Amino acid sequence: TTFADLGLAEWAVRTCKELAMRKPTPVQSHCIPKILAGRNVLGVAQTGSGKTAAFALPMLHRLAEYPFGIFALVVTPTRELAYQLAEQFRALGSCLNLRCAVVVGGMDMLTQKQSLTRRPHVVIATPGRIKVLLEDNPDIPPLFSNTKFLVLDEADRILDVGFEEELRVVFQYLPKNRQTLLFSATMTSELETLLELSSNKAYFYEA
Ligand code: AMP
Repeated sequence: TTFADLGLAEWAVRTCKELAMRKPTPVQSHCIPKILAGRNVLGVAQTGSGKTAAFALPMLHRLAEYPFGIFALVVTPTRELAYQLAEQFRALGSCLNLRCAVVVGGMDMLTQKQSLTRRPHVVIATPGRIKVLLEDNPDIPPLFSNTKFLVLDEADRILDVGFEEELRVVFQYLPKNRQTLLFSATMTSELETLLELSSNKAYFYEA
């Protein structure tokens, strides 16, 4: 298979080529068509498997068709992972003038609030900080009223750090009709509970 076979737009296929991604990895071949088709996905895949592009590419494909409001919220356990994700989103979305905001602990809250009101396409956040921003600022939740995707990246680690409560709060601020994509290195029953809580039926991928 090629990236074009998976149903991605021509600009996305070209971007992959420019980034020396010559053919899809297994997690990409399985998950990209499902995500493009509107399915929720629970993907069990290790770092290095290409899982970031497996969710970022179909999300950016859909974003290019409908570039309004904060399109996606990506939640990840650590600051470092948040910045790495932002870098990959910017590289994969370089054709789109993609606006990405990173919202993590330890940084100035007011600056982060302003970065959200500038209506980025994709918000990449750690659970604690996005929860506080949503709860403490009445003008922030409406910015997410049209959000189409929630991604929980490294979901097992998010739960390990004890962020389940924060996630439950964050879910409540997002539209019910969004797609939820959950990626994890390991599969646990907590993850299934989390996915049920955040959405309905999911496509399950395991390497
Ligand atoms: P990840 O599993 O998302 O952490 O990705 C690991 C690395 O693989 C990243 O640096 C990507 O740029 C790279 N990568 C992702 N997909 C592909 C692909 N299809 N071919 C070659 N490299 C890839």
